[in-house]
Amino acid sequence: MATTKFIFVTGGVCSSLGKGVAAASIGSLLEGHGLSVTLQKFDPYLNVDPGTMSPYQHGEVYVTEDGAETDLDLGYYERFTHSTVSRLSSVSTGQIYEAVIRRERRGGYLGKTVQVIPHVTDEIKSRIRLLAENTGADVQICEIGGTVGDIESIPFLEAIRQFAHEEGRRNVLFIHVTLIPHVRAADELKTKPTQHSVMKLREIGIQPDLLLCRCDRDLDLDMKRKLALFCNVQAEAVLSARDITSTIYEIPLSYSREGLDRIVMDYLGLEGSPLDMSRWEDLVERIKNPVGTVRVAVVGKYSELQDAYRSIYEALLHGGAHHQHRVEIVKVNAEDIEQHGIGGALQGIHGILIPGGFGNRGIEGKIEVIRYARENRIPFFGICLGMQCATIEIARHLAGMERANSTEIDPNTPFPVISLLEEQMKIENMGGTMRLGAYHCHLVPGTRSREAYGVPDMSERHRHRYEFNNKYREELEEAGLRVAGASPDGKLVEIIELPDHPWFVGVQFHPEFTSRPLRPQPLFREFIGAAVEEAERQRHPLVVPKAEG
Ligand code: GLN
Repeated sequence: MATTKFIFVTGGVCSSLGKGVAAASIGSLLEGHGLSVTLQKFDPYLNVDPGTMSPYQHGEVYVTEDGAETDLDLGYYERFTHSTVSRLSSVSTGQIYEAVIRRERRGGYLGKTVQVIPHVTDEIKSRIRLLAENTGADVQICEIGGTVGDIESIPFLEAIRQFAHEEGRRNVLFIHVTLIPHVRAADELKTKPTQHSVMKLREIGIQPDLLLCRCDRDLDLDMKRKLALFCNVQAEAVLSARDITSTIYEIPLSYSREGLDRIVMDYLGLEGSPLDMSRWEDLVERIKNPVGTVRVAVVGKYSELQDAYRSIYEALLHGGAHHQHRVEIVKVNAEDIEQHGIGGALQGIHGILIPGGFGNRGIEGKIEVIRYARENRIPFFGICLGMQCATIEIARHLAGMERANSTEIDPNTPFPVISLLEEQMKIENMGGTMRLGAYHCHLVPGTRSREAYGVPDMSERHRHRYEFNNKYREELEEAGLRVAGASPDGKLVEIIELPDHPWFVGVQFHPEFTSRPLRPQPLFREFIGAAVEEAERQRHPLVVPKAEG
């Protein structure tokens, strides 16, 4: 623990500056120097976790290996570095207060008045140290959510100020991610918002060591000097973080060009090997120079939101990078399909993906899309709810089970092909019935999934309540469905396939959470591979696709 160094990343001026990607990119650069990193996110909201927040509020809920429902920035941490995040990596104000209040009720404060300072701040500091103790990483990067100046983030800022004081200089580095807007009328870059934001930080007692300036262009030397002088930062520690339009995976490389890794390592006295980012450079080259494009429709409920399916979009891109193809994501709203039919919505599409979800909005639209994918032999990938909908579609249209459904959608369906497990039904009212986190799955030899993974056993992360109903397993298998993966005890169906289709796979888990740019998730990789073939088939419509089975 004594050897872990800490980097705190704060945000200034406004939200959506990509602090999460910035923190993750710093981590990837330090790993490029052979150092080990761990990352942590502090969220200043009162929710205990984002599990109960609507995607409209919060974007995707990222599920960790150990089953925590966390902020989507943790997804960037895992995609950019080799670290595996856990529930220790995600801390909200809600969790902090919950712990403090629980301790107070137990009499743990020995009659003292319980206050924000020191009790809340102590709890925050203990969470920082707990992660360091658990991982023993060389560097721990902690991102403070929200924007400096928000009332909600004050306890966190006070806690990290105290933390830095306790750890001593050279053990803690403060990085402030800020915005330098370009005012078009004057054709000038403006430093004032950043000056004010740094002033706010200094009021609390935090002097940033490094400014990461988000801007639509590079800052020139004069600009950097001006910011350095007014913000009391060394000029070489004012870095341009210019908008990158090609791919976010270029961001670590662009930071390195600005010298970020050297400055951070010098300041913290870290010794590492010379920077090796060759695998990232290759990746970026492949992404920037595709040999073709595939169009994948993602048919969901929150299609208009950028972040609701973030990990899925990233995983598709990883698969595309593997095949050196650009993946054009076509967002299709399932409710539109429900109201207006498919029409031309899936014209020229090479693959169809249905992501996870809750509730019945858009379900019939999704089932219609699955039927289209099945009948037109378009590669199909169903994830969680998407797999459940595929099961319903197969039940209704291949097994003749009219009105088959999931009991989540229609509790009175005559064919509950997706339902709660018996033991879950009993405890439903007590809550906590969601299957969360990584579970093992045995793959069935001879299936597409078994081939894709290349191993007989794997584990993937879950976040759902309902399951494939084994009562209908035999009947559905007779109708053409194939169970390609199940829990080790054989009781829970985890993967379904249609062998009589170019690529039709539904999974009860969320494979998007384990995909990495340098190690695409096997099913995403194969799905994009099938889409590449489909694109080829559409280009040469006279070539009859070879029968597969
Ligand atoms: N609503 C479904 C269930 O609870 C699917 C959940 C999901 O797609 N994440 O089982």
